[in-house]
Amino acid sequence: MKLNKTYYIITIGCQMNKSDSERIAGYLESFGYALAKDEKKAGVVVLTTCGVRQSAEDRIYGLVNQIKKNNPKTKLVLTGCLSGRSDVQKRLKDKVDVWLNISDLSTLADRLAIKTEKTSLSSYFNIKPKCDSKYSIFIPIGNGCNNFCAYCVVPYARGREVYRPAEEILAEAKEAVKNGYKEIILIAQNVNSYRAKYPTTKSQYPNKSQVQNSKQLNFANLLRLINNIPGNFWIRFATSHPKDMSDDLIKTIASCEKVCEHIHLPAQAGDDKILSAMNRKYTIQQYKNLIEKIRKDVDNVSMSTDIIVGFPGETKKQFNNTVKLFKQVKFDLAYIARYSPRPGTAAEKLKDDVPLEEKKRRELELNNLLRKTALENNKKYIGQEVEILVSGKNKAGFWHGYTRTNKHARFKSDNKTLLGKFVMIQITSVKDFGLEGQALEK
Ligand code: SAH
Ligand code: SF4
Repeated sequence: MKLNKTYYIITIGCQMNKSDSERIAGYLESFGYALAKDEKKAGVVVLTTCGVRQSAEDRIYGLVNQIKKNNPKTKLVLTGCLSGRSDVQKRLKDKVDVWLNISDLSTLADRLAIKTEKTSLSSYFNIKPKCDSKYSIFIPIGNGCNNFCAYCVVPYARGREVYRPAEEILAEAKEAVKNGYKEIILIAQNVNSYRAKYPTTKSQYPNKSQVQNSKQLNFANLLRLINNIPGNFWIRFATSHPKDMSDDLIKTIASCEKVCEHIHLPAQAGDDKILSAMNRKYTIQQYKNLIEKIRKDVDNVSMSTDIIVGFPGETKKQFNNTVKLFKQVKFDLAYIARYSPRPGTAAEKLKDDVPLEEKKRRELELNNLLRKTALENNKKYIGQEVEILVSGKNKAGFWHGYTRTNKHARFKSDNKTLLGKFVMIQITSVKDFGLEGQALEK
């Protein structure tokens, strides 16, 4: 029987998972596989899974059943955060054909029994991605996490931190700029704990004053190196851990003209006892001091965060400290999650004692507050001229994209070729999570 050399990828979860899926697509295409229209006819279906919350996990069980029901002949590859969990493997053993730890991506051809003369690559980072976008690219700078926050499954699912050599990252960034990419998004679980040897090529060094006597190259150095690549492009990064946000990094973000003025800095909670139980390694005062420093140094910066409500033992009083944090910091955006116990984590052993209804109430209270502060922050944009990178056009005829400060913005224009271009607009009205304006003719 002829081998069905088509594939389809379903991705759940974070930017890291999206980036992994792009590498898997690039890898399969290098073996002559073509993208199928949907999962029903594909010879290989890849599921890039997320295990951060129970709800994301439950979606996977539904999807696996559905895929195998509609397409029993397909080879189903399961990767991402659930792929290493023995309980998940047991539960889905009859349905999943290949359990893939993403760092072993170069072995996938063998495991799918694809005949090949190619030699194996040592690192999955070196596999060329097939990017969906022609103007915005994710570049992973590392994988894994050493922090073991009490609630989080990522260190178990992705293993310890491994960072990519700067030369490799620089080469990928240069190639992207050469190919017309306008936005480079550096990603890792904690970008700001990045460390690597200095590049061996002298011309790639940051100049002496930039090295700051550190033996290892850190994230600030890496940002400077990428900022030095000639061309018209933006640099974004996610996620930053508050404990690793150095003064040098803040100054670097402020001084590198290509680095966008948006920092995602997950606080997770606004109460010291909860932060300590979460093993976050900072106090709320230290977090607030950081925000103050960032706002002082980085003009017009926008700040976003992640929060977990209803962590085991979180009292109403402790939650109110998170409310207080929201009132004081006035975030532009926040991802608020209800605590969900994860197998194998330290917090799994604690009693999940905040009732679901109360978690929902806390989530809603923070979201309502966020709406107000975000709207307040956005009002200062009225009348301003801002640049946006255009990412699409909606059915109502609005072009839309994001500002350097990560604000979603829309405008009308008869120009049909704006996708992936930088456009200046003047803001005429604002909402809590969006700006609207008029394009300024060049
Ligand atoms: N490395 C990032 C976060 C990665 S996980 C950091 O340090 O902040 C993405 C987000 O999912 C977390 O910021 C957290 O808010 C949420 N999350 C992780 N585990 C969770 C759990 N068990 N229950 C609810 N939300 C969780
Ligand atoms: Fe999870 Fe904490 Fe690591 Fe973020 S820093 S990935 S929340 S363990």
